[in-house]
Amino acid sequence: MIDRLCIIGVGLIGGSLARAARRAEACREIIGAGRDAAQLARAVELGVIDRYTTDLAQAAAEADLVVLAVPIGAMESVMHAIAASLQPQTLLTDVGSAKGIVVAAAERVFGSVPHRFVPGHPIAGTEQSGVDASFAELYQQRRVILTPLPTTDRDAVNSVRRLWEQVGAEVVEMSVAHHDEVLAATSHLPHVLAYALVDTLARMQEKAEIFRYAAGGFRDFTRIASSDPAMWRDICLANRERLVVVLDRYQHDLSALRDALAQGDGERVMHVFSRAKKARDQYSARDKSSK
Ligand code: NAP
Repeated sequence: MIDRLCIIGVGLIGGSLARAARRAEACREIIGAGRDAAQLARAVELGVIDRYTTDLAQAAAEADLVVLAVPIGAMESVMHAIAASLQPQTLLTDVGSAKGIVVAAAERVFGSVPHRFVPGHPIAGTEQSGVDASFAELYQQRRVILTPLPTTDRDAVNSVRRLWEQVGAEVVEMSVAHHDEVLAATSHLPHVLAYALVDTLARMQEKAEIFRYAAGGFRDFTRIASSDPAMWRDICLANRERLVVVLDRYQHDLSALRDALAQGDGERVMHVFSRAKKARDQYSARDKSSK
């Protein structure tokens, strides 16, 4: 059991981890830290954290495990704020959706990536933000990717792994580079596509009419375009090199599909749709059987 868990950034992801850790009795006390006292007071009122402070260094100094759950763009400044007060035995982890940029920030702030820093990313979320949107079940049967470096302390990895397992997640490990490549395709690209589609339709003159008749397919495809734009701008920029590669590939395939449609080439369209349906059905079956 962790004695003091410190969550910096008590929003959707940090708040849900706090709620789940409390429910699983994975720690004795949860300290919330951040920059907005009113939001942190709300987190205490909701029973998400035990107490709070806006003094990040103080919070980190008291903790056994510090979780950085702030937006990607704030990771480096938060690391700066806590660097001097982290005790040598304190564990540090993060939940950022891109890993290369967080590891590079840690290297800049600490001189080299601390042995007890375990980069992580829960593959769970919603399009909501803030502590009011947090819930204890968010990580149940979801994956969490840890991306330790060869220099990362194994005991630190195991402790962070245990916390995520206690809140119901399945933990996998992979390299930072592999994580960023996979997530560019499965998460960052779909967000770009959803935002782009809704933006295109919203700028068409008859948009009121279009949205009035939009049904389930539109809702399924575009739900994630309701996510926080600033957060997703930061994530997409953080992983832009890999995102642009997969975006180019998609653009190439989309353009071929466009040509097939323009030419009335039903066989080609059918081929692409059938191959996609087969792949999606296989993914759904695997996803269901793993739950
Ligand atoms: P969120 O609900 O907006 O929470 C972010 C929290 O960080 C808020 O409590 C915010 O508080 C605080 N914060 C922002 N800037 C800060 C700063 N400079 N110093 C201290 N605290 C600061 O966002 P989220 O969805 O939980 O995302 C948090 C992290 O989780 C991000 O790194 C994201 O990449 C990652 N992630 C998100 C998802 C998802 O689907 N949402 C999934 C997996 C991982 P105030 O703004 O009130 O100060």
